[in-house]
Amino acid sequence: MNHNEILFERAKQIIPAGVNSPVRAFGSVGGTPRFIKKANGAFVWDENNTRYIDYVGSWGTGIVGHAHPEVVEAVREAALNGLSFGAPTEAEIIIAEEIAKIVPSVKRLRLVSSGTEATMTAIRLARGYTQRNKIIKFEGCYHGHSDSLLVKAGSGLLTFGNPSSAGVPSDITQHTIVLPYNDINALEQAFDEYPEQIAGVILEPIAGNMNLVRASNEFVQTLRQITEQHGTVLIYDEVMTGFRVALGGAQSLHGIIPDMTTMGKVIGGGMPVAAVGGKKEIMDCISPLGGVYQAGTLSGNPVAVAAGLKTLEIIQRPNFYENLSARTSQLVQGLSQAAQQAGLAFCADSVGGMFGLYFMNTLPKTYADMSASDATRFKAFFHAMLDKGVAFAPSGFEAGFVSAAHTFELIDETIELAKQAFSIIK
Ligand SMILES: *Cc1c(COP(=O)(O)O)cnc(C)c1O
Repeated sequence: MNHNEILFERAKQIIPAGVNSPVRAFGSVGGTPRFIKKANGAFVWDENNTRYIDYVGSWGTGIVGHAHPEVVEAVREAALNGLSFGAPTEAEIIIAEEIAKIVPSVKRLRLVSSGTEATMTAIRLARGYTQRNKIIKFEGCYHGHSDSLLVKAGSGLLTFGNPSSAGVPSDITQHTIVLPYNDINALEQAFDEYPEQIAGVILEPIAGNMNLVRASNEFVQTLRQITEQHGTVLIYDEVMTGFRVALGGAQSLHGIIPDMTTMGKVIGGGMPVAAVGGKKEIMDCISPLGGVYQAGTLSGNPVAVAAGLKTLEIIQRPNFYENLSARTSQLVQGLSQAAQQAGLAFCADSVGGMFGLYFMNTLPKTYADMSASDATRFKAFFHAMLDKGVAFAPSGFEAGFVSAAHTFELIDETIELAKQAFSIIK
């Protein structure tokens, strides 16, 4: 057994499935997860000392590249002054001001430690603010693992409340309406059926948890209109897309001003920082100003905030997003061409520094579309690439990420390796 295999066996003796987050277990692709020893720039190394070009980037957090020297230095400096105070700090104000400057729809915000906390708080605020219970989410969108949001749609137009996890009472999920992504008719029907009852709609504005699926312009415009008309809180869950698809997130690309926004991943620069923010009158419902409770021992942690602040500084340097987008486009175009030459059913898409690869001929618009992607082909491609030293996310339902450390040369190298992989899997 190699070191990864030995560690996986040992991990399974103490940690369920050997992992602290399920996709890491390689369940959908099979094989042994790589235990990561270190990371730098565009690379990660596993415990066998094998180097990989990394397109996971800690699920998108690593936008400036792993262990960026300036971020590491900021963390070191902050750590020297104490790891946690559980009291307010000036750095928290600075990062909050910085986020509000970049995302103008955010007038007030709270820092939390994970995307899950951010979306859970957003839902509670939407309910507290509107004094309503029902929420709408869309099939294939992931918003963390709080009870109300662990719901997937069965078949049918308006599916209520089948929890997608054991341990979630249907009493809770009965208030969650699940609709197909990009389906305007279903949205209008839901509002017709439950007028004055829907507290909030939560959306991944460019879905990244069913591979990459773009919301259509017509869909988001309708969504903004209908929520406004019904006094429903529109929540853009930009935990993945924020500071990733563009500096100002998907809302800046859509030209939409949501009532609330949730953020995470990039704003911590690899450390646990997330945020929930939006309109003043909604955010002012949060305790101790209002009656909606929310708290966190490590919220606004000084070391994590230092990493986030430095990351936000780096991504605002000239041409950061132009370069990131150009490299990501180069990757998806190169892969598409290579697959076409190999005669494979394949297409790819990217927005900013985020991309999707699909083993089918047309870009998906819904979760149902995405399910047509050839999972067996993906699995074979994933392993062929991993064997050649390129790490993609270990699931066909995850988006991929490019960082500022992915040079044009590294992307060319990836495309060359993919040509070989495509011909193997064909
Ligand atoms: C990752 C993610 C979350 C959950 O964030 P965690 O930090 O993993 O709790 C929520 N929403 C979206 C869109 C995400 O991509």
